[in-house]
Amino acid sequence: MPPADPSTPAILNSPAEMRAWRRSLRSDSVGFVPTMGALHPGHAELLRRLRPRCDSLVLSIFVNPTQFGPNEDLSKYPRTFEEDLVLARACGVDAIFYPTPQTMYPVGFSTYVNEEQLSQGLCGAARPGHFRGVTTVVLKLFNLVEPRVAYFGLKDAQQFFVLHKMARDLDLDVSVEGVATVREADGLAMSSRNRFLTAEERLLAPRIHAALKDAAHQIESGQAHQAALNAASLALAHEGFRVQYLDCLELPSLRMHNEATHSSPLLIAVAAHLGSTRLIDNIIVHPERLAAHGIQVHL
Ligand code: AMP
Repeated sequence: MPPADPSTPAILNSPAEMRAWRRSLRSDSVGFVPTMGALHPGHAELLRRLRPRCDSLVLSIFVNPTQFGPNEDLSKYPRTFEEDLVLARACGVDAIFYPTPQTMYPVGFSTYVNEEQLSQGLCGAARPGHFRGVTTVVLKLFNLVEPRVAYFGLKDAQQFFVLHKMARDLDLDVSVEGVATVREADGLAMSSRNRFLTAEERLLAPRIHAALKDAAHQIESGQAHQAALNAASLALAHEGFRVQYLDCLELPSLRMHNEATHSSPLLIAVAAHLGSTRLIDNIIVHPERLAAHGIQVHL
């Protein structure tokens, strides 16, 4: 058999193949970036920043059915494996775990993982069952890939804090770390779903980030939170967004912020529909203070 081409990632299509590849490694220094594919520069940033920290870098591409609600965009979710492979190669990925839904969730699958505090509000309230799907699939992925470090984007901030909590609560031997959101030049957070925006919606979409910045600025300069959030929400509604939530929560608990406690880092997070596309974004105020809570983020 010819030797494996080191510039081409191994492609592993089932849990059994993933586990066998992992067991063949000599070094335990494995870094992991889980994704749903349709890769863009936000995903590339996670991979590039993790690459120098590990001997083997694993990327997973799996559009996880259990985190989509019945009326959500599972069947419409973009799938671009050939392009993803090019990006993975350029980022120095060693293996791509690209399983089929049938191998991840065989007939009769019936065990799920629930985080019961941080996952309740924001997207957890707007998308019932979403985080149960996320924690379940990420625990399965961690069990198969056995990474020592995993990077997640702060673009999906609640997801990051829920997964960090899961790893801590369940004593997982993996460091779950966050990476700053990668944005387009006009401020729009990069997302696989941005491709669904019409040309007109694409021009409006950066208003989300602008509204968050306004709210963060007002909150940092001492304005009452609710007034700042209401103003930002109203501004977005005027532009034609249907705002699902725009909240300011304390980190890392994701509890409502008591305005008397000024030392906590804060998450100001929004979800809004623009036409048929649901966009989320957030700003973290004082992210450097997360280190005091044992949470590592790369800004
Ligand atoms: P997804 O494929 O959308 O599930 O995302 C896979 C990982 O990439 C998650 O940890 C996301 O938070 C992260 N990610 C997605 N978009 C961005 C972005 N614009 N900047 C940084 N990380 C991102």
